[in-house]
Amino acid sequence: MLNKIDHIGIAVRNLDEALRFYRDALGLEVEIEEVPAQQVRVAMLPIGESRIELLESTSPDGPIGRFIEKRGEGIQHICIQVADIAAALEQLRAHGVRLIDREPRIGAGGHRVAFLHPASASGVLIELSEALPAE
Ligand code: ZN
Repeated sequence: MLNKIDHIGIAVRNLDEALRFYRDALGLEVEIEEVPAQQVRVAMLPIGESRIELLESTSPDGPIGRFIEKRGEGIQHICIQVADIAAALEQLRAHGVRLIDREPRIGAGGHRVAFLHPASASGVLIELSEALPAE
């Protein structure tokens, strides 16, 4: 049911500054996308089978803006790729896992995603992302 670590989400204050390390120093390729629904500008940097996702808030009231306000820059979530997100959510609910999203929504790259509450995962915000048909 779980395919791989899809990406690690890192909250950054300034995307261009963060790219000086992640793109320029590490030499990773980058694709930038805006996700207005989540008030973020996203840079995806593939690394092996996974990716690093840099998240810059476009608003102080968005989820990343609030995260940085409270905790500063750093790892914000870990994303696990699943084959069937509805089935995964159903199984997790049956195990009493606290869900932030009861239903999947559309996230970066057009994937169906859902977040699980950190209280159920030892303090780590977990994102599930459904593989696209081509993956
Ligand atoms: Zn993510």
